[in-house]
Amino acid sequence: MRYSEFGLTTLKEAPAEAEIASHRLMLRAGLIRRLASGLFTWMPLGLRVLRKVEAVVREEMNRAGALELLMPAVQPAELWQRTGRWDEYGPVLLRMFDRHQREFCFGPTHEEVITDVASRELRSYKQLPINYYQIQTKFRDEIRPRFGVMRSREFIMKDAYSFDLDRDGLEAAYQRMHAAYTAVFERLGIEFRVVDADSGEIGGSRSQEFHVLADAGEDAIAYCDEDAYASNVETAATRRPDGERAAAARPLEKISTPGTRSIDAVCEILGVTPEQTVKTLIVEGDGGPVALVLRGDHELNAIKAQKLSGVSTPLTMADAASVRAATGSEPGFAGPLGLDIPVYFDHATASMSDFVAGANETDMHLTGVNFGRDLETPETVDLRNVVAGDPTPGGNGTLDIVRGIEVGHIFQLGDKYSVSLGATVLDADGKERVLQMGCYGIGITRIVAAAIEQNHDDRGIVWPEPLAPFDLVLIPINLHRSDAVREAAERLYAELSALGFEVLYDDRDARPGVKFADAELIGVPHRLVVSERHLADDAFEYRHRRDDESRTVKRDTVLEILRESVIS
Ligand code: ATP
Ligand code: MG
Repeated sequence: MRYSEFGLTTLKEAPAEAEIASHRLMLRAGLIRRLASGLFTWMPLGLRVLRKVEAVVREEMNRAGALELLMPAVQPAELWQRTGRWDEYGPVLLRMFDRHQREFCFGPTHEEVITDVASRELRSYKQLPINYYQIQTKFRDEIRPRFGVMRSREFIMKDAYSFDLDRDGLEAAYQRMHAAYTAVFERLGIEFRVVDADSGEIGGSRSQEFHVLADAGEDAIAYCDEDAYASNVETAATRRPDGERAAAARPLEKISTPGTRSIDAVCEILGVTPEQTVKTLIVEGDGGPVALVLRGDHELNAIKAQKLSGVSTPLTMADAASVRAATGSEPGFAGPLGLDIPVYFDHATASMSDFVAGANETDMHLTGVNFGRDLETPETVDLRNVVAGDPTPGGNGTLDIVRGIEVGHIFQLGDKYSVSLGATVLDADGKERVLQMGCYGIGITRIVAAAIEQNHDDRGIVWPEPLAPFDLVLIPINLHRSDAVREAAERLYAELSALGFEVLYDDRDARPGVKFADAELIGVPHRLVVSERHLADDAFEYRHRRDDESRTVKRDTVLEILRESVIS
């Protein structure tokens, strides 16, 4: 590709709304352009990268035996009503009417449509196992689109759906997708981790996420290599403390703490640390409010809390009026003593003694609170987010926490959709069996941003080779003044292109500094400079995007370097 014909415009500065490196660099390098909130155009340079991701995903899906199809992006409401998700999905679902006033949505995912397809196409166990996939545009009206294509409203997903006769079949299909995803991310040259995950709105039992590790990630991943454990913090389990609780040493006292609605304020006035306090959160429940008690420095985990019996989903904090009714005090002074509503205690509270709690009286707290003396020793549950330093659930190691970007997600759905949409087949005995289903997503567009997040420096993108829009950038010096340079550069461009390398030939009439800066911004892995200085020796200046210095190399060496890096 000749730069002069590629229509590429790079920017010196990124627009102010770009908060993270990948978003800034994608805009500066001209990979994407914004249309409206969460909507982006993939420009020619960006599309080259996107197509590479797609190609690797497609190859690995095909290799795993999945069959590509293409479903409509627009889906009838009626299917979503049958699975109950028309109401459950809420404002994320983009809904619309056709000219006959029939209701539709723009697909945020395709479980309904594929199960409808399966219910019509699959009649006999002999057609199983089967796994259908597509690479297609989705729309989710995200509450907070941000970070460019990392969290956009319209994005491209590879979604696959497996159908099997029984749980063993599903497990095998799931493991095949696990292996295919691992192969995809290894081939793309990005560092990733597979973590246990919540199955969320899609429902079902087992699920794992593939995360690209990067500081800008929106998810927190708890892991411990020694104990072979990795989980999204959303689902990482905490352990009940093993040791004995210290004996009560202080009397129970009620102390005036005016205006202290936060743990920090209570700590300041009482001269204690958050670890010596509990916080009592009042949330909405099916039969009235429920209290959740956590150590003061711990964070409530909404996903765990809303799985507790009696707690409403989605988790909702009780309003001030309900707090007053339940505790007899203003919000901020609730405590577990003498509460007349269901109370859940987090595991970590089990080992506390002489702690501080709200007194259920406005502007008052209790100090020296002890289980077994002031209130019954409770059964405890897992209510909080794990933190770095916590023991692993197995107890054989300590958790560390890193940030991750979810690029893939695999689920065992079981029969959730097959039951509601009537997807059954006849087994070998002629008996009707409900299909066991799995679903598997990869965020194609998000991968591009995640790869940049993990691979960039202060000069620009540093593409892993398999994702690079071009293999090599060819930069002639004084192209427009030296016939010798022009001839050599043109010849090299033709030769390398004929060998199948993707070459960006910077034939602009621009200063070398401008060309170098653009090449680094765009992140092309190999750079070759043609200048009069080395022409007599049939040599060029070569530099890899990750190198600090260039070196002079002969034509044959150039070919060797390229062959090794591009073809492998
Ligand atoms: P997230 O937790 O990031 O919102 P999700 O769990 O809702 O994602 P899935 O339903 O698992 O997403 O979709 C499969 C994949 O699609 C995700 O792993 C992610 O890579 C990608 N994806 C989901 N939402 C978006 C989005 N708004 N923008 C870009 N990619 C997305
Ligand atoms: Mg997910």
